[in-house]
Amino acid sequence: MSIKDNVEYINRLKSEAAERSGRKGEDVLLVAVTKLHSPEEINEAIDAGITDIGENKVQEILSKYDKVKPVKWHLIGHLQTNKVKQIIDKVDLIHSVDSFHLAQEIEKRAANIDRVIDVLVQVNSAEEETKFGISEDEVDALIDDIRKNCPHIRIVGIMCIAPLFDDPELARPVFASVKAIYDKYPDFKYLSMGMSNDFQVAIEEGANLIRVGTAIFGNRDYRSEER
Ligand SMILES: *Cc1c(COP(=O)(O)O)cnc(C)c1O
Repeated sequence: MSIKDNVEYINRLKSEAAERSGRKGEDVLLVAVTKLHSPEEINEAIDAGITDIGENKVQEILSKYDKVKPVKWHLIGHLQTNKVKQIIDKVDLIHSVDSFHLAQEIEKRAANIDRVIDVLVQVNSAEEETKFGISEDEVDALIDDIRKNCPHIRIVGIMCIAPLFDDPELARPVFASVKAIYDKYPDFKYLSMGMSNDFQVAIEEGANLIRVGTAIFGNRDYRSEER
């Protein structure tokens, strides 16, 4: 299967899952996760209709940025404060804001370039210690703090990474509880949840942005990634 075939296949499954939840395929944004894949592969995906790509490392965004056709860039991985200034003018959406400390740095760098940056707050709903994200009971306070203190940040939604289960059905309650947080904020635009193994369940539970890598590009050649 080519990248193009895979994109078409994922789009079809995405539409079917959206219809099961009373929506249309186009209501769910497919972000192709391109970490550890080459600019050539990424351009192939863009030619197949991909409009948005996700990277989890600042360094990878920087090294590929000029080699990839025009596309929207999503930073989906943990962001260290000392790297914010390197990508502040390159990314369209930061999915991984999980502390006020990080928000303050984004605020400062965004103010410097006179831009308002769209972000998602990353919730760690499964309370897994090894993963990033703020716990469910702290999320409202973080949103409130950012809204009061960071005029150059616009919070446009919530992101979560469910634990990797053999059976994606087991992720359903995680997605449902994150959807309940999302629903408290009527002005939010994105509920980012669902990956290759569980995106259909995530869509059924209300995700409108899915982050899919392996199912589009095949297995990554890596050793030290989380999850
Ligand atoms: C790698 C990654 C994905 C994509 O995972 P696949 O299982 O390859 O689809 C999605 N979200 C985040 C945060 C990731 O790091």
